[in-house]
Amino acid sequence: MSVHPAASFSRAPALPFAEWPRLEKGWVWLCGAGPGDPGLLTLHALNALRQADVIVHDALVNEDILDWAPQAQRIAAGKRGGKPSAKQADICDTLIALARKGLRVLRLKGGDPFTFGRGAEEARALMAAQVPLQVVPGITSGIGGLAYAGIPLTERGDNQAVTFVTGHDATGGPAASVNWPALAKLSGTIVVYMGMKHAGPISRALITGGRAPDEIVSIVMSATTSAQRVIVSRLDRIEADILAAGLEPPALLVIGKGVLIPGQAAPRVTLHPFSIAAE
Ligand code: SAH
Repeated sequence: MSVHPAASFSRAPALPFAEWPRLEKGWVWLCGAGPGDPGLLTLHALNALRQADVIVHDALVNEDILDWAPQAQRIAAGKRGGKPSAKQADICDTLIALARKGLRVLRLKGGDPFTFGRGAEEARALMAAQVPLQVVPGITSGIGGLAYAGIPLTERGDNQAVTFVTGHDATGGPAASVNWPALAKLSGTIVVYMGMKHAGPISRALITGGRAPDEIVSIVMSATTSAQRVIVSRLDRIEADILAAGLEPPALLVIGKGVLIPGQAAPRVTLHPFSIAAE
């Protein structure tokens, strides 16, 4: 069993979707839904939404997107740190059982399914169960979400490297297998997913590793949604500023030069959608 790319066209097929790939009975499409704004969904994901019999979706998937599939049964299989949620093994078993019933299954995950989304585990489980599978990438929050916050991750001549890292591991603790001091020694921007709970220990480890205590950290909450908030803090104040601003997950920490207005240490809130002209 192999994973098929959904996109196998040499030229763009006509809209709206008559010639697009079929989500066949008994198949699972493992799709990214993007960071929140429905406009950031891919056309392949929209095509799958229109055909699905059942959608197994994450807590991070915007409800408005699910409303585009009124014909489909919805199964919430969200995993949110600290809150009761479906076990990963149960999610995999559910996907396999639905596919074996002959349903067209859309597994819709926030952002990109293979970026800190446990999509790899689901793909492996489906392949082991001989369930045919297509993977549709999505816009990950650590790229598309940050663009809505006005944060370019690279800039010629200034910022040539980006690291994406998770702030907690499978146990829910700070990501023990990440060598934070070594990461600190790389020159580029660090984007931390799932870093809110352990923002203090992470920032202290980065300072120990050599990052300046006054280095800018942007915190972007609920990027691309109407609840989007952005604050700009410093490495040594990040915990206090998160608390003072009342920020909650989902949020990304961006450490380093990847901010549009460097040097601004006071917390700053931008409105959605971000507009450069408004600055
Ligand atoms: N697969 C997802 C990431 C899942 S891990 C993706 O590609 O984006 C969950 C973490 O992603 C959250 O804790 C948060 O750090 C980040 N995240 C997801 N959506 C977000 C959003 N709209 N705004 C800010 N952070 C987001």
